[in-house]
Amino acid sequence: MITRESLVKDLISLGIKSGDTLFLRISYRAIGKVEEGPKTFLDALMEIIGKEGTIILTAFPKKYISQLKFFHQKEVYSSENPPKPITGAMSVVAQAYPNAKLSRKIEFPFVVIGKYAEYLTTSHTHEKRGYWLLEEAIEKFDCYCLRIGGECFTGTTHIAFTKVLRATGNYQKKPKYGLYIREGNCVKWYDTNNTIFCHTAFLKANSKYIYPYLIHKKEGLVGNGHAVLTRMKETLQKEEDYINQDVSRMLCDNKECLLCRVSFSFSDSNVIIYLVRQLLQLCKGNIRKAIQNIRSLLNNVFFGIKQQ
Ligand SMILES: [Zn+2]
Repeated sequence: MITRESLVKDLISLGIKSGDTLFLRISYRAIGKVEEGPKTFLDALMEIIGKEGTIILTAFPKKYISQLKFFHQKEVYSSENPPKPITGAMSVVAQAYPNAKLSRKIEFPFVVIGKYAEYLTTSHTHEKRGYWLLEEAIEKFDCYCLRIGGECFTGTTHIAFTKVLRATGNYQKKPKYGLYIREGNCVKWYDTNNTIFCHTAFLKANSKYIYPYLIHKKEGLVGNGHAVLTRMKETLQKEEDYINQDVSRMLCDNKECLLCRVSFSFSDSNVIIYLVRQLLQLCKGNIRKAIQNIRSLLNNVFFGIKQQ
């Protein structure tokens, strides 16, 4: 059983210190069995960063295609009744943590605990971009990313990718997703403008061209989990530079990948070719996967909106 004391020791060895601002990407399962559960991990972290420190986690909820909002009228959220995060056990525990604050932008929320929680969450309004809160923490508070387990993301790829799309005039066509939110007596549908990148393409590039060249990185064990601490200002810049050289580097070579083959303005296939391919897959007996892909394709065709 992993104790709070041993977690404190591990986190300090990794380089976490008093006053840090940290974005957390934690697979609780990777840490192992912790005494009294995931809250103990947050307690250990708060003990080290202290009153001057801040921690940030995603708290993204399940959302629905905006054109189909009619079917979700009964599901209304508010700051008093926020949606449950689907971004892992740690997000759920963080949202219930004493003095935790949630973005006012409930359709794309982060949960923040500590010194800058009030500022970051109240400034993250509906009008701001989804990742605004994280961009602000990187820019103003030199935020680091603490990743334990999970895939090798350091929290900056969405931001870097979107920056390059906008700078190069590229876009992604995909449905917009949102939620009904009550503010005062007013219930309104809010959706977000955000792009999704292909994980396969990025992870391949990251391990070869980005991660090995980072200066600010520390690796170690927290509990049983492989932990990595990276400076987000640096990863953001490195990722942006890498993508900026040629945006098609963000395409994988999997013929079934809807994102890469169809959704981007720089995708290398088209809707018809993709559909024919999936129909052939159906004939070959790959029924479940093909139906899933066709459904996603149809959502893209009928509900897709250009986003940057
Ligand atoms: Zn792909």
